[in-house]
Amino acid sequence: MIDESRWLFTVTDLKQYMYCPRVFYYQTCLPDIRPITYKMQMGTEAHVEERERAARRSTRWYGLPEGERLFNVWVQSSTLGLSGQVDEVVRTAGELIPVDYKMARRVGHHYKLQVAAYAMMLEETYQVSVRRAIVYLIPLRKATEVPITAGLRRQVLQTLETMRTISAQETMPPPTDWRQRCADCEFRRFCNDV
Ligand code: SF4
Repeated sequence: MIDESRWLFTVTDLKQYMYCPRVFYYQTCLPDIRPITYKMQMGTEAHVEERERAARRSTRWYGLPEGERLFNVWVQSSTLGLSGQVDEVVRTAGELIPVDYKMARRVGHHYKLQVAAYAMMLEETYQVSVRRAIVYLIPLRKATEVPITAGLRRQVLQTLETMRTISAQETMPPPTDWRQRCADCEFRRFCNDV
């Protein structure tokens, strides 16, 4: 049961906040202004194709023992005030391992935070401890293991708290430190200080 007194965000919100806090702000506080870009559309289509390919692979492809494979698994947490859909969950004897497919060539920190959030929600839903996740880089066809550390868990909690404050107060956060992201950002015309 979700605690209605907490903001319920999705893992996509969390990922956007980590990419740039302002993207999250525009998306959450001014939801009508964002267009669907070609880049976003391509990412969605690649995900669907990857799920179909993944279903034909063995878990050994990820360096994991054989296990049951569940696709598009919905998870939510009343503790975190968060919900999301995991691309794949591998269930082995005594372990659940979230797998996330990415149209990327490296495992950025925002991806690690995202899989840590999936791990925490799976733990709450299934009452098991999740100690690792897999990020699968589609262009490289490469699986990378991400340990779900105490530091990552702490960061998930802190980030969600900051996101709740931004949403409640509707205050525009500072821009990303990675200004190269601004060059082809669809919100560029709203950010006059970058
Ligand atoms: S233009 Fe830069 S600061 Fe503004 S939302 Fe886009 S990435 Fe963030």
